[in-house]
Amino acid sequence: MPKMSTEHAIIIGGGIAGVAAALALTQHNRMTCSIFEIRSEPATIGGAINLTPNALRYLEHLGVLPRLKPKGCEVKYIEMLSLRTGGRLGEINFDNIEKFKHHALRVMRDDILQALLQTLKEVGVNVQYGMKLQSVTEENESISTEFDDGTTVKGDILLGCDGIHSVLRTKFIDPQRKPEFTGVAGAYGLLDVGELHELIPIESTSLYTGRLGSLLLSYTDAAKTRLYVAAVMGTEDVGSREGWVVKGQDQEAMKQDLLRRFGGPTLPFLEKLLDRTDYLALYPIFKLSDNGRWTSGRMLLLGDAAHAMPPQGESAGLALEDAVLLSRVLEHRNANSIEESFRVYEKLRRPKINTAVKMANFGFETIKQRGWFATILIEWITWIFLAIMAPRKRIEYAYDVRNIDMDCFSSPCGVQSAGKSLSPLYRSIPADIKHREG
Ligand SMILES: Cc1cc2nc3c(=O)[nH]c(=O)nc-3n(C[C@H](O)[C@H](O)[C@H](O)COP(=O)(O)OP(=O)(O)OC[C@H]3O[C@@H](n4cnc5c(N)ncnc54)[C@H](O)[C@@H]3O)c2cc1C
Repeated sequence: MPKMSTEHAIIIGGGIAGVAAALALTQHNRMTCSIFEIRSEPATIGGAINLTPNALRYLEHLGVLPRLKPKGCEVKYIEMLSLRTGGRLGEINFDNIEKFKHHALRVMRDDILQALLQTLKEVGVNVQYGMKLQSVTEENESISTEFDDGTTVKGDILLGCDGIHSVLRTKFIDPQRKPEFTGVAGAYGLLDVGELHELIPIESTSLYTGRLGSLLLSYTDAAKTRLYVAAVMGTEDVGSREGWVVKGQDQEAMKQDLLRRFGGPTLPFLEKLLDRTDYLALYPIFKLSDNGRWTSGRMLLLGDAAHAMPPQGESAGLALEDAVLLSRVLEHRNANSIEESFRVYEKLRRPKINTAVKMANFGFETIKQRGWFATILIEWITWIFLAIMAPRKRIEYAYDVRNIDMDCFSSPCGVQSAGKSLSPLYRSIPADIKHREG
């Protein structure tokens, strides 16, 4: 059958999902991409992100990893500890090079975006900044976007990579689906540890879980000189964006709140760390409801725009995986229409995303304030949960969308059958999955 061409992608949002999608489609599908970002320049905000082995393989596939890896701190495991006793509850283990190809990497969000953008520039695509989407018009053979400066761009597909508050989702695809406050706020700071290094009893990343929230300590560089201190804690909604900004400006109150929640015999050095922190950033954590719409006609949502969930240390990897999977689906498009291809993408993607959302929601519920009895119970549950989840996590970190046999799903009849067969597909990924080089 003749291969139907998909030539030009319009991408809204120049974050991780948007730039990764532009890279994947340019490099692996020979498409041209126009990418539009609402900010006037790349975002420099955000702390440090843990990239899973899957995320690192996808970054390697996109040609980004060599410039990023030297900037971060390798993470062989994330140690989970009780804040109450200092005892070890278990670990999330990334130490299986043979199956995963990489360990995990803790790296500054800004460095990830810069590495993606530099690679994008090398393939000849520039992000256009300060561009606000006004309208979308879909025709039979194309889709057009208009921006508030009057620019009009025509393409074959339109990708919404514009994050949790996505305008493409809320205006054109699924207006009902608005971000919900999780009841949890995050706070983070960075510091040069200097001589405090001796006091900090962590290998690379440790998560202390307690009655009033969880506190993460993680190095962000190979030399282990720069420490990321990040808390997630049950917090009442302040009600407005401005309210959160004002709350975050009172640095002394934030420091005292963190000491109240996490200070004590297990972390006696916490005050010293907080004193040395450049700035403590505070932000409310939002999520999207499960099972919203991702597509409409020639439009598709990727990354947080489609499936923002409470932070569980894997969402950036999911955004990268979305981009690589879409590229593969389009590569094997054959005679499918754009809509059919997007349906294939969605059928392939839902099982993994649904599982990730369930896990993230479960993990987040245990963070909220609780009594002593519940705390002790949750420590036991965490210990059992981590032990039970370990084999499943090993399968997850070996999972690679580049190994899916696309020919099964790229014909119109494949689209019909995909719904029946794909849910088990994700659950039954062989543990000895082979890695294909990018
Ligand atoms: C507290 C916290 C901690 C996290 N920790 C981790 C972690 O350790 N590991 C991990 O893997 N993930 C983590 N994540 C999740 C991860 O940061 C996100 O999943 C990831 O950034 C999603 O990428 P994205 O490109 O979809 O969205 P974003 O990174 O939000 O990018 C969206 C882009 O679109 C732009 N935009 C918005 N609206 C418009 C518009 N109308 N027009 C044009 N452009 C627009 C934005 O300015 C932005 O540049 C964490 C998230 C949070 C909140």
